[in-house]
Amino acid sequence: MSRMEEIQRICFNRGIIFPTAEIYSTISGFFDYGPVGTLLKKKFIDYWREFFVKSEDNILEMEGSIILPESVFKASGHLESFVDPIAQCLKCKSIHRADELIQDKTGKFVEGKPVKELTEIIKKEKIKCPRCGSELSEVKLFNLMLKTEISPLGGQTGYLRPETAQNIFTAFQRLFRVARSKLPFGVAQVGRSFRNEISPRNFIVRVREFNQVEIEMFYDPEKPDCKNFDGVKNKKIVIFTRDAQKNDKEPIKITAEDAVKKKIVPNEWMAYFLAKEFEFYKSLGIPEDALRFRHMLPEETPHYSDGNLDLEIKFDFGWKETVGNAVRTDHDLKNHMKFSGKDLTVTTDDKRKIVPNVVEPSFGIDRTIYGILTHCFIEDKKRGWNWFKFPAKIAPYTVAIFPLVNKDGIPEKSMEVYKTLKKEFDVLYDDSGSIGRRYARADEVGTIFAVTVDYDSLEKDSCTVRHRDTTKQVRIKIKDLVSIVNKLINKEVDFEKVGSPIK
Ligand code: ATP
Repeated sequence: MSRMEEIQRICFNRGIIFPTAEIYSTISGFFDYGPVGTLLKKKFIDYWREFFVKSEDNILEMEGSIILPESVFKASGHLESFVDPIAQCLKCKSIHRADELIQDKTGKFVEGKPVKELTEIIKKEKIKCPRCGSELSEVKLFNLMLKTEISPLGGQTGYLRPETAQNIFTAFQRLFRVARSKLPFGVAQVGRSFRNEISPRNFIVRVREFNQVEIEMFYDPEKPDCKNFDGVKNKKIVIFTRDAQKNDKEPIKITAEDAVKKKIVPNEWMAYFLAKEFEFYKSLGIPEDALRFRHMLPEETPHYSDGNLDLEIKFDFGWKETVGNAVRTDHDLKNHMKFSGKDLTVTTDDKRKIVPNVVEPSFGIDRTIYGILTHCFIEDKKRGWNWFKFPAKIAPYTVAIFPLVNKDGIPEKSMEVYKTLKKEFDVLYDDSGSIGRRYARADEVGTIFAVTVDYDSLEKDSCTVRHRDTTKQVRIKIKDLVSIVNKLINKEVDFEKVGSPIK
């Protein structure tokens, strides 16, 4: 079993993430978060908000509607250009992404070629259906948005949003007023997005319904400086530069400040977010050598963008974009002005009428979660089971409670401990099977501490606490449990110093 298969097996069996409606023949590209996965995702979002929203004084949040009218996507360009090229097998009728059938000399898929050219390459290189080896159709463009009819009689077309960003642009006037009409200000939104992907794959990495969190940071293009930049300017980030990509060189490690000076990163706002993202992803347990920002090549960069740098994570199947960072300039607001006829300009303190520019970090939550699952996964022959070393901030359960035996008042005492701890933490209660099996189950979902309630708990009000990472155990007073666990997760004390060690 490959590592990826083993991670999926645990996810399916332990209620982390599993295929949607799997009692029927499932449609690919949809996954449900089970009880454990829901906690992981919620905690990830809370931590994200702490890191990127609460720490700032000018980032607001909103929650927009998922279905948006067609007019929004006419203005945003999605109706016309949110397309992928497809080719259908003339025999088995399977559909394939045409650009993923063709590789260049280095093994990279061709991207951005017109359909006519793709059709010609397929004919010339005699590329056949990867499933059955038969002839393929001409290449056509396929729009990735999921369409729906609004109202009982239909008549108005809506689309499930393919990104969260458009709600922020369409509500810009109101949001700006809430921000006391001052630039710079940002708006963050956590929510669902939908893309009718042609070939969903790699578990939750490419799915049709996914979770995103995007920030649109609006600023005056004549004053592109970021007031908090000093706090991050000396932080080093890893960039896979255009030069390194073209000439087969290694990525460079550079300070945020130098990356702006050398014009690799277009401005301070972008560099500010890149520096924060790098710290954030490392704190999620993803090692530095599995993280890099790829500067998109000129031919991949949208015409309106001043530069895009994707945060990529190294997965088992290769590097993959997980956060798209773009300087979208005034492109979106200008288009919405043109199509809606509404004035979205703002007046600056020095009385200039401008359309704000925008820097956008766009995080994929599910892809990030797979990055965390991949890099926190410990294959542990010694223990005899594999487990997840989730950082304390996002571990689904902080503590597990095990009654040693199911008699003599021990279950009642265990329940009491469970209820007390539940007021503070997410707690797992497990009273079935041997203690060894219970440790294994708790480890498999990354539970940090396992508390066993035994006969001494009844007599001396003490319990054993085992640490997931080392399997070391200490004996502590039950009355001190909450405060000790809090201190441990905040790294204020060492595990081995909180109680008497147990050999
Ligand atoms: P890709 O081509 O790799 O699917 P993209 O360039 O279309 O991604 P963006 O439009 O920049 O992606 O979206 C921002 C982020 O949203 C991505 O970095 C990714 O983490 C997430 N994302 C996009 N599409 C999907 C998807 N189909 N499934 C899961 N996450 C996605």
